[in-house]
Amino acid sequence: MRAPSTIEGMTEPSIFERIVAREIPASIILENERILVIEDIAPRAPVHLLVIPKTGEYANVVELAAGDPDLLAEMVSVAQAVATSTTGGDFRLIFNTGPRSGQTVFHVHGHIMGGWDAAGRTAEESLGHE
Ligand code: 5GP
Repeated sequence: MRAPSTIEGMTEPSIFERIVAREIPASIILENERILVIEDIAPRAPVHLLVIPKTGEYANVVELAAGDPDLLAEMVSVAQAVATSTTGGDFRLIFNTGPRSGQTVFHVHGHIMGGWDAAGRTAEESLGHE
């Protein structure tokens, strides 16, 4: 579950819930009943998208796997479908989990990263945060 905010016990919507609600603009690549795919605002790969469940119920992939494995499987399937049309099919799907991994938004999301050239600029350059 998302950590409650400190403001009088109220929970604040995550940045991604606000994007889902169209309160904040985003470049939307795909939307279905339960999932949104958007462009990352600060891309760290030639193609850098975020696959996000609309629900803000799960803070990270571990919680999602335990709470709704079908939704996690659907996120992977959607990531693969989007990668087919944006990266040529090969991609990394990265779930930062916990602040020391670089997670900054505690609404589970997968980073879809790809589009490196055939010479294979090492994808490790794009992992984590500076
Ligand atoms: P994390 O660091 O939690 O794994 O990933 C959060 C990602 O969300 C970051 O890569 C960051 O660039 C992206 N991000 C944060 N705020 C926004 C926003 O308002 N719009 C979009 N499109 N991406 C965002």
